[in-house]
Amino acid sequence: MCGSASPAGIVREVEGAWPCGWCHRLRARRSRPTCRVLTGCFAAFARPSADSVRPGAFFYDAAAHPRPWWAVAESYDAIIIGSGPNGLAAAITLARANLSVLVIEARPTIGGGTRSAELTLPGYVHDVCSAIHPLASSSPFFRSVPLESFGLEWIHPEIALAHPLADGRVAVMHRSVEETAAGLGVDGPAYRRTIGALAERGEALFDDLLGPLPFPPRHPAAMARFGRYAWHSAAGWARGTFRTEEARALFAGNAAHGWLPLENLLTAAVGIMLHVSGHHAGWPVAKGGSQMIADAMGAYLCTLGGEIRTGWEVASLAELPKTRAILFDTSPQALAAIAGDRLPDSYRRRLHKYRHGPAAYKLDLALSNPIPWRASACRRAGTVHVGGTLEEITAAEAAIWRGHLPARPFILVGQQSLCDPTRAPAGRHTAWLYAHVPAASTEDAAAVVLDHVELHAPGFRDAILATHVMRPLDLQTYNPNYIGGDIIGGVQDWRQMFTRPVARLNPYTTPARDLFLCSAATPPGAGVHGMGGWHAAQAALDTVFGGD
Ligand SMILES: Cc1cc2nc3c(=O)[nH]c(=O)nc-3n(C[C@H](O)[C@H](O)[C@H](O)COP(=O)(O)OP(=O)(O)OC[C@H]3O[C@@H](n4cnc5c(N)ncnc54)[C@H](O)[C@@H]3O)c2cc1C
Repeated sequence: MCGSASPAGIVREVEGAWPCGWCHRLRARRSRPTCRVLTGCFAAFARPSADSVRPGAFFYDAAAHPRPWWAVAESYDAIIIGSGPNGLAAAITLARANLSVLVIEARPTIGGGTRSAELTLPGYVHDVCSAIHPLASSSPFFRSVPLESFGLEWIHPEIALAHPLADGRVAVMHRSVEETAAGLGVDGPAYRRTIGALAERGEALFDDLLGPLPFPPRHPAAMARFGRYAWHSAAGWARGTFRTEEARALFAGNAAHGWLPLENLLTAAVGIMLHVSGHHAGWPVAKGGSQMIADAMGAYLCTLGGEIRTGWEVASLAELPKTRAILFDTSPQALAAIAGDRLPDSYRRRLHKYRHGPAAYKLDLALSNPIPWRASACRRAGTVHVGGTLEEITAAEAAIWRGHLPARPFILVGQQSLCDPTRAPAGRHTAWLYAHVPAASTEDAAAVVLDHVELHAPGFRDAILATHVMRPLDLQTYNPNYIGGDIIGGVQDWRQMFTRPVARLNPYTTPARDLFLCSAATPPGAGVHGMGGWHAAQAALDTVFGGD
């Protein structure tokens, strides 16, 4: 058993792994500079097999145990700063190309925006950030990795999404286009003709959309149809396509995931993508919590020979081992600060001009019973959008851009425990909520958020056993990538959608040949899909390792 007795405190428990770092180095495909002393048995260097890794085991925590000089090798082919889904996807992609990689994470656990924790009471597992994963299930990167062999299990709620209106009416997005269209009454045919037709081309669409500007597109027919709808404002497209308040509200709720005023051009794009993802691949949750996604990615990376160190916040390139490529799963501003004068002033100035948008106000609740929604469909849905009609959501999203907290903000409610009983003690439940609020807002929005949900679920407040609150600046403290509480890694309007962080032919590269950005501040932007990491790793393979 490797990994049980390190003086530095370990790491990852793996059975059947190589007995020590020394052996690992001797057996490594690419010989790395040798360990300077035979230190014994360190699982940090071990190479586990798929069935030997216990997901949820922990990694070397450099904060708890000061980083000993032997804990990392002298050099790696590539170093990834940050272990969010993009950082881990980049590391996996490079390790699959037989390169030696080290992932360095500031916090004690890996995962970035895909962590879970007992935030309220013992036995209640809350997703600290991401909860619902339409983009993971649609992502070409995720489809290419065997994460199920490493403990990841997707659970699809009975209903993907429900959207209640104040008078008890409700719009529902099912996995099936037919069922959804049938529920939308007179708007059913329009739904089938638009969203339904795109959902049939879901795989082709996500192939083109989850990356840099697809020019020329790999799937021109699907992209042409998408483009025909996507350039509209969300509000305009909903009014022009649907006649009922229910269908318009359902679409507005999905479009609001773009965090933009819904009257802006191109805001229909996000709404359409999320509808298509719901039908194409579903809106699943990870059994046991989103942390399982990160743990499965970390475990898979270990089988490829990758190494991970947590509790190490990188402040400067000078502290890193020698390497040929560094990939930043960070904000553009952190890239500028850490890289310093390795990047030209003009490029760093452009990184500092990168724009961030409104913020999230996050609440996690331990509940004595499920949320008592008035509309029964909401009681079976993984996600509920609380925001009212198209007009109400449009007004609320415009208000946050003007810096005002609306009386009825747009709220996303995740009900993971309805379909995943591992999230709470028997008979009890969790709720995951966040509201859209102004950037860096310091207003206490908890009462406004709870009141808004109560409007659709009388008695909701009585079910709350414990509450955990993360205000916008708490989110930034938790993860420096969430500047001002902006959880999508920067505004995703037409100026920054495909040209994030700056306009460059290859947005993952920088003027320094060995430095790359791979976070949500690169295309395709926010979400757990790993595609920013995958594209950045491809850029590194092409430019740095192309000759190998
Ligand atoms: C409240 C909330 C709800 C969300 N809900 C969803 C959802 O339901 N579905 C969905 O798909 N997405 C959701 N997201 C968005 C999703 O979590 C992010 O878009 C995604 O995690 C971005 O991945 P990333 O790899 O780019 O960066 P991150 O996940 O932000 O990871 C970056 C990592 O880098 C580390 N790091 C940063 N700087 C340094 C440094 N200097 N040294 C070392 N380490 C560093 C950070 O600690 C962090 O662990 C949500 C986000 C939040 C906050």
